[in-house]
Amino acid sequence: MSSLRNTITPERLIRQEILALNAYHVPPSTGMIKLDAMETPYLLPESLRAQLAQLVAGAEINRYPDAGAHSLKERIRQVTALPSGMDVLLGNGSDEIIQLLAMAVAKPDAVLLSVEPSFVMYKMIAAFTGMSYVGVQLSEDFSLDLPAMLVAIEQHQPALVFLAYPNNPTGNLFDADAIKQIIEASPGLVVVDEAYYAFASDSFLPLLDEYENLLVMRTFSKLGMAGLRLGFLAGSKIWLEQLEKLRLPYNVGVLSQLVAETLLANHDVLLQQAEQIKQDRAWLYERLVGTVDVHAYPSEANFVLFRVGQATKVFEGLKQRGVLIKNLNGGHPALIDCLRVTVGTPGQNEAFVVALQDTINHLA
Ligand code: PMP
Repeated sequence: MSSLRNTITPERLIRQEILALNAYHVPPSTGMIKLDAMETPYLLPESLRAQLAQLVAGAEINRYPDAGAHSLKERIRQVTALPSGMDVLLGNGSDEIIQLLAMAVAKPDAVLLSVEPSFVMYKMIAAFTGMSYVGVQLSEDFSLDLPAMLVAIEQHQPALVFLAYPNNPTGNLFDADAIKQIIEASPGLVVVDEAYYAFASDSFLPLLDEYENLLVMRTFSKLGMAGLRLGFLAGSKIWLEQLEKLRLPYNVGVLSQLVAETLLANHDVLLQQAEQIKQDRAWLYERLVGTVDVHAYPSEANFVLFRVGQATKVFEGLKQRGVLIKNLNGGHPALIDCLRVTVGTPGQNEAFVVALQDTINHLA
């Protein structure tokens, strides 16, 4: 018996593609100025927090949540001005929705296609669900390489295409006409991932009824609700009713539904915070552009990507000075010497710029 037990090892039992993965890494951040994860730096106004406290006190957490989350979905319809005839599916963060989509189409040899560099979970979730992954390189300026995309779509016939709009970690919006051509050329679903919609100047949501294979995904994580875990997929009922079968019945809890609904009833407060962040992004970008040895990329999101000599040393120097950002150096080849900073409060941005300059001076 015991010799048999010894042969039960993860290497023998777990799928090879899972053994080969590295878990998504979340670094410790206690006591630091946290500019690594695209969170909103602002708490809610005191009056709204008091209102939420009262609602939470009265919440029936002894009961399972409304499995259909009807009133929350209705609120989402209103604040997003969803085109009529379109439906909404809720996820425990949009990560979960990526997983639902992949599970639904993961026939043997099915392909998930995206661009690189982009959001790493597309590739990871392809591995989780046994899909083949194809990553088409972006051009040097991080724009879409449309000819390469069209060739890859023709060659691999992807069941799912993910395009982050704006893209993470590069921050840019791709050319909308190029995306339309990709949607038209795709034999499967194209998901435009608008995680950063609140900071961007364009959206595909109004185009949902023009393309039968288009879905638009959004999250509220970047709009002050990262801790709630709430994302949604918008699109035609013919797709969403299939995905609903895979959604675990109570994936969005009582408290998340209640709080999100209340916050969306105060959407203007959240959008004001987003407006402030957009202004501060412009300030931060200008400061980065003006820093010797730094190349900053324009952004339509709540972060700025920049390239700097000795990026890992700069990242470590910032950490020693109490500022945590994201080190992308050593990941994708197109991101050599790249770092990504989330826009914080004006004070945090200032502290970051000072710490960056100090670090660069010390390394010179
Ligand atoms: N899509 C993109 C492009 C992202 O950058 C992120 C988060 N970094 C997500 C989706 C997932 O967000 P969440 O699971 O918090 O909704």
